[in-house]
Amino acid sequence: MRIGIGYDVHRLVEGRKLILGGVEIPFEKGLLGHSDADVLLHAITDALLGALALGDIGKHFPDTDGKLLHIDSRILLRKAYSLVKEKGYKLQNVDTVICAQKPKLQEYLIKMRTNIASDLEAEIEQISVKATTEERLGISGSEAGMTAYATVLLIKI
Ligand code: MG
Repeated sequence: MRIGIGYDVHRLVEGRKLILGGVEIPFEKGLLGHSDADVLLHAITDALLGALALGDIGKHFPDTDGKLLHIDSRILLRKAYSLVKEKGYKLQNVDTVICAQKPKLQEYLIKMRTNIASDLEAEIEQISVKATTEERLGISGSEAGMTAYATVLLIKI
């Protein structure tokens, strides 16, 4: 078994779509980034790579790579998972937390879990996505950005 942790943060700005877990969420602001800035999927991607000590998301998918501009982060997630399978592992489960002051995310969590389960060839019961505010403190609480944490457990195929 191998365990991995991932963390990511993106700045919240006007004029961008808000995409979390591959779901477009109606909101007056969105996350800024080279890709679609899906902070949740980036944290999971980083955790998958970390579990096998393969480096981090920035090493595999650098934000200087023009081909990755505006890329759907689900593509990055699937690429990271293909590396996991190449190494002879598969997902046991993933647990995540999104930190966001606004908007309320509860109604979108099932769709996010469905997307992630599809990309990681897993059942929805293996994928946990939670959301919290940080009580108006810090990066997410000030609405300057959003952060996400992920842990994954991989097992040998
Ligand atoms: Mg990121």
